[in-house]
Amino acid sequence: PLTSYAGDYVTNNSIFKLTASYEADSYKQKVNLGVGAYRDNNGKPYVLPSVKKAQSDLIADESVDHEYLSITGLPEFTSAAAQLILGADSLAIAEKRVASVQTISGTGANHLGAVFLQRFYQYQAFGVDRQIYISNPTWANHKAIFNQVGIKPVDYPYYDAKTIALDFEGFTNTLKQAKNQSVFLLHACAHNPTGVDPTQEQWKQIADIFADKGHFAFFDCAYQGFASGDLDRDAWAVRHFVARKSIPLLICQSFAKNAGLYGERVGALHVVSATPEQNAAVFSQLAAIQRSEISNPPAFGARVVKMILTDKALFAQWQKDVKEMAGRIITMRQSLFDLLTKKFETPGNWDHILKQIGMFTFLGLDVNQCKRLLEEGHIYLTANSRISMAGLTTNNVEYVASWIDKVVR
Ligand code: PLP
Repeated sequence: PLTSYAGDYVTNNSIFKLTASYEADSYKQKVNLGVGAYRDNNGKPYVLPSVKKAQSDLIADESVDHEYLSITGLPEFTSAAAQLILGADSLAIAEKRVASVQTISGTGANHLGAVFLQRFYQYQAFGVDRQIYISNPTWANHKAIFNQVGIKPVDYPYYDAKTIALDFEGFTNTLKQAKNQSVFLLHACAHNPTGVDPTQEQWKQIADIFADKGHFAFFDCAYQGFASGDLDRDAWAVRHFVARKSIPLLICQSFAKNAGLYGERVGALHVVSATPEQNAAVFSQLAAIQRSEISNPPAFGARVVKMILTDKALFAQWQKDVKEMAGRIITMRQSLFDLLTKKFETPGNWDHILKQIGMFTFLGLDVNQCKRLLEEGHIYLTANSRISMAGLTTNNVEYVASWIDKVVR
């Protein structure tokens, strides 16, 4: 097990360290609940049937060559990706107000969005302070991505450790108190690492404040389909903000999780403007930034996703695949909850395991309890007690529940 667990457990690189320690552990019943990638019920990486079909069709197609894509990526991919997140009937798309650029997965979309704001978002709150509000906690890489381009990340209250739920009051107070036209990063669904999302009613109130204050919404959408199993439902918050029209925003989109294309680096940045003229200017500036950074995005994964998004049968299969992944995670939530509350009668309230959404659950354990899980139980998790539900299987969930029970007693 890890020797340097305390003090270095939720940093940007710690997940990779945790995985390396897991790999090196020879204990038979070891469990990896650190990794943020989907695993099947045998604990193995999963190649989606829709992806398998698309990639074999692609490889068999002799007309496919290896020329460069354009600077902004494969147009059929970016336009289908925009429709996926904004809706096929999106007014913003119809009015030509969406600039979509293919990126190096979600990380690249966050980076390109950050560079774009750093150069062009010149409202006073940003121009002087050069800061972005991020949820406390958030995906560890957010801080690094913004610091890298000279934007200062500032925390806003999000998660309340006492209630193991959203600190809605703290969050909305910060929105209200921030200078007008501040930039706030929002997780579109399945908040990482807490699994705690606002309800639709709360999203409406949040959008009202954005509209009132003129804030800029920087949406990060890494889990569309993973939260509920329904691609449209998970896009609800983004679509609600876009429909408000007056809220300036962008969306970072990743296909790593929902298409299982982690290593192919497929993603997109969509910037929604107020007018088609502004949109044209935004698009050309995004292209200019992209040229100096990566010249041209990678082709293979984008072609696979384009096929899935534009072919009726493949799309239907993909919807099934996404539902299956989300469904397995939801089943694991129920199993863990049932074991703790019924079989082990573990002290405490475990409702949050069922309420939280997406790949991750925040168990609400302290560092020492996490340390015992790791060192004595060989259960690998970050010390903020975030577990990846995808690491649970019908074979190991009881073992994990028994150890949670042990460390909380
Ligand atoms: N944003 C969030 C909140 C994430 O959790 C992740 C992945 O874990 C990403 C973005 C980006 O991932 P990728 O670059 O693999 O698409």
